[in-house]
Order: sequence, then structure tokens, then C-alpha cells
Amino acid sequence: MVSPHAVRLRSSEAPIICLQSVDKVYRASLGHAHALHAVDLAIERGEIFGIIGRSGAGKSTLLRILNLLEQPTSGTVLIDGRDITRLGGKDLRYLRQKIGFVFQQFNLLGSKTVYENVRLPLRVAGDMDVQAQRARVQEVLDLVGLANHARNYPRELSGGQQQRVGIARALANHPNVLLCDEPTSALDTETTRSILSLLRDINQRLRLTIVLITHGMDVIRATADRVAVLDYGRIVESGAIVDVFLKPQHPTTRALLAEASFEAGSYVSTSWQGTLVATPLLTSLAEEVGQQFAILQGSVGRIGAMPYGDLIIGTQEADEQQLRRLLDALVRRGIDYEVLD
Ligand code: ADP
Ligand code: MG
Repeated sequence: MVSPHAVRLRSSEAPIICLQSVDKVYRASLGHAHALHAVDLAIERGEIFGIIGRSGAGKSTLLRILNLLEQPTSGTVLIDGRDITRLGGKDLRYLRQKIGFVFQQFNLLGSKTVYENVRLPLRVAGDMDVQAQRARVQEVLDLVGLANHARNYPRELSGGQQQRVGIARALANHPNVLLCDEPTSALDTETTRSILSLLRDINQRLRLTIVLITHGMDVIRATADRVAVLDYGRIVESGAIVDVFLKPQHPTTRALLAEASFEAGSYVSTSWQGTLVATPLLTSLAEEVGQQFAILQGSVGRIGAMPYGDLIIGTQEADEQQLRRLLDALVRRGIDYEVLD
């Protein structure tokens, strides 16, 4: 993997993935689809790079081009400085071993055990004996928290556990890059959180570059370092998460953000005067309502001798009952509120 020396030189290193003027046109008998237009992209070593866009924006096409499951119609795709569009045969097989792929629907073989599913890419690579394969499978199952499930079949596992197997399989050959195509879209909110925190953990521990595509802003916010917004096959905006989320420039980014905050839950603007302090207030509200809240914006201070506070609190999910319990708890404390829409 990356040597300590390479880590020190990181800022001067070339991007691990670099796309230049990539176009993709699918030609079909009923006409053609121009899926990507002049896409330029540079992904740094060791980062989690998010690509967001609506259905049909070209996200999966872009991801598949990164391991040459699709050939670009024109343009250059450099990985580690090498133009992969010219690779063939053995070189292409090796490239694919070093790029792990995680799928939305997990794509596990139902008739094989967890152990056999994860061992498959090692067998394909063919450079380890069975004992070494067994040790490696156990190592990656450990890493994803499934050390005791090697003998299970996929159908015996929950969706989140199946995705962990998918991630273990993608890691088996010590990849340099992990490509994730909507890895949490088939999972519920709680499981999504645990899978995203696993991806962050893997990114940190293995210093693995992760490219994560999704239509969910929340997924990107929780996970990625930088993001690009794809709209009708073009990158319309990109940058650090904080910049893109706080100062979205393109109408599509704004629309995606607005939909995400609507999906994520409710926002309540509160204000009070007196001795309440913001942090214990949130803690006691969380205890009473049974849910954590996020502060989205706020200020506390004094006007003369009078302390005051203003907070916009976000709930995690759009749950009418929880919102009602929150509002009741605010009323009991004499805090003014307004539900924002
Ligand atoms: P996303 O993953 O963002 O939903 P895709 O990359 O799957 O978008 O698709 C982008 C566009 O390319 C869509 O218009 C889609 O219909 C078209 N497309 C994708 N794959 C193919 C294919 N194999 N043949 C023809 N058109 C395709
Ligand atoms: Mg897709």
C-alpha cells in the first residue's frame, strides 16, 4: 500500500484518478444517449470523493469507466498516471483487481457461503495458495465486523451484513481504490449510517481512496471529503463538502440540497431569553424526545444583563410524532418556536 514516505509527499503527489475531456455516448438502435459530456475530474490519493446527481445523470457510467467496465467514447482516464483506456488482457485484469467495486444490490452469489463469496476474487487473481486465501478472507471479514459469519449464506444475513460482505469482497485483493455505486440505497437509515461509518473507517485505516456515487446528499455529507455534482452528464459544480453545502452555486445543487433537508427531517427555529444554555438544552431535549438533534445555526449572547439564545434545530427524520414531542418539550420550557418549511 502507500508507504510512509509517499504519505509525507502527499500534497505534491499527482491525483490517483484523473479524467480529461471524457465523453460517453451509448449507441442503440433506437437512437443514442450522450451520458457524459467533457468530464474533467481529479481525485486525490486517500480521499473520499462523492459524486452526486439525479437518476440518469451519468453517475454509474462514470464509475464504470473508472475500471473500464465501459470504454469512454473519447477522452483520457489516468489512474496512477497511466492511461487505462489503452490497457488490455493481463494489464486490464490486474487493474480490475486493484480497483474494488461495491454494488447497490450487493451482487453476492446466493448459492455460495460468505467465505466463498469473499474468496472468489482471490481465486480469480490466482496468486495465493488456499491457506493464504483463507487467512486473507478472515482478515477482511474481521475488518468489516463479520468474523463469525464465514459459514453463513447471504440469505441468512441482514441487508447491512450482506453489504459488509460486498465490501469485504471488494477489499480482498488489497485495492488502491474502492468504487461504490449507491452502496446504501437498498438500506434503511440506521444501517446506512453504519455502512457509511465503516467506509470512513476503512478509508482512514487503509488510506484507501474511495469514490462514492449516490443521489443522496445526506450520504455525501456524512462521508465524503469533496464532491462533484453531475447533471445531464456534465459536472456543474465541485469542491470541498463545506463549500458546496454551505454555498451551492448551481441550481441543481441547490435543488438536491433542498430535497435532502426536506427528506432528512424538520427544522425548528427557537428563541429564548433567560438562563438556558444551548448545550444542556439539546441534551435534555434529546433525552426527553428520544432522539438526537443537530444545531444548524445559532447564537447565544447577552443583551444588557439578559442572556438570550437563537437556535435552528434539525430533527434527523421526518417523523410527525417526534416533531410533536419536540414541540411539546419546547413549550414546557417556555421556548418560542417556529417550524420551518
Ligand atoms: P445514473 O447512474 O446517474 O442513474 P447512468 O450512468 O446509469 O446514470 O445513465 C446515464 C444515461 O445513459 C441514461 O440516460 C441512461 O439511460 C443511459 N445509459 C446507461 N447505460 C446504458 C446502456 N448500456 N445503453 C444505453 N444507454 C445507457
Ligand atoms: Mg446509477
